[in-house]
Amino acid sequence: MRKTVYSLPELEWCDLTRYNDQQPAIVLTTPHAKIAAEYFLKQINLKEIIYVQSSQKVDVNQITAKYVKAQVVYAIGGGRVIDIGRYLASRWGLKIICIPTIISSDAFLVDCTGIRENGCVTYVPSKKADRILLDWELLKKVPLKYHLSGCGDVLSIYTGVYDWKYVNKLGIASSDESYSQSVAITAKGILDSLLSETEEIKKGTKKGLEILITCLGMEVTLCNFFGNSRPEEGGEHFFTYCIENKIPRFLHGEMVCFGVLITSFLQKQPWRPLKKFMDTVGINYKPDGLTLEIILETLEEISDYVKIHNLRFSVYNNFLFKDYENKTKSFLKEIFKI
Ligand SMILES: [Zn+2]
Repeated sequence: MRKTVYSLPELEWCDLTRYNDQQPAIVLTTPHAKIAAEYFLKQINLKEIIYVQSSQKVDVNQITAKYVKAQVVYAIGGGRVIDIGRYLASRWGLKIICIPTIISSDAFLVDCTGIRENGCVTYVPSKKADRILLDWELLKKVPLKYHLSGCGDVLSIYTGVYDWKYVNKLGIASSDESYSQSVAITAKGILDSLLSETEEIKKGTKKGLEILITCLGMEVTLCNFFGNSRPEEGGEHFFTYCIENKIPRFLHGEMVCFGVLITSFLQKQPWRPLKKFMDTVGINYKPDGLTLEIILETLEEISDYVKIHNLRFSVYNNFLFKDYENKTKSFLKEIFKI
């Protein structure tokens, strides 16, 4: 069978105040990110600004249908803007240069896009960034906790590998998710390398952020070699997709971090060492709007949800909420300190 291993996009650390580009450009951003990068807009040949506020299929299709006259797309913002920006550029047949203002997920490093429809996420092929421009002066304007949420897509290896091993143990793994010890060990090595840098990450230095970006890059590369995101995506992401229907807006990485805690608890894995890491570096794993009621409601629905949406097998497929209700309530009391 034909197999292609894709590489990471080009990543450049640079000083964006010295940047100049005269190609006609479309900028995709959010009102908030635009303020942070206002000066940058004067240095390019700006034709149009489009605000990306949603990754719902209907909204994305509406932007896709727009007639755009440009040679290059700049996606300036967090995960959603960059994810959708790569999709739009691929549909418009344009180059895309990504300027992350928040490192809250691995979206700037991948070549597919998560589109939301009927209450779930589908990953569709888009394109990888032609260039990623990272400017420390721009990134450091944002409160550290937003960048730290990007740890979620590395910490998810903890629960992702468990679910991957679990489906193989049950003997019901699909052909593209056969367990590979070497890939699993490498994935855990990436997770351990993040945890080993707790002190540096906590300081909020450029070096700390580079460590996080390196871990995200290694995680994406490993998934590229493996062929899909099975080593990195499991129940913690499915929990996040399910709860998205109940909470209008949150940072992907923050909810994935909560997902890692609750999923590892339900997998009967030690979860306190991960909570300790999150507490020490300052990750917010209790996103705004996350309440006990919503969590319990999500857990009640999740085993149906993962089946309806045909998500990969995880601890949630055979999950019976009633059996875990009391234990989960004690776990949540500890997390929410109540
Ligand atoms: Zn993710």
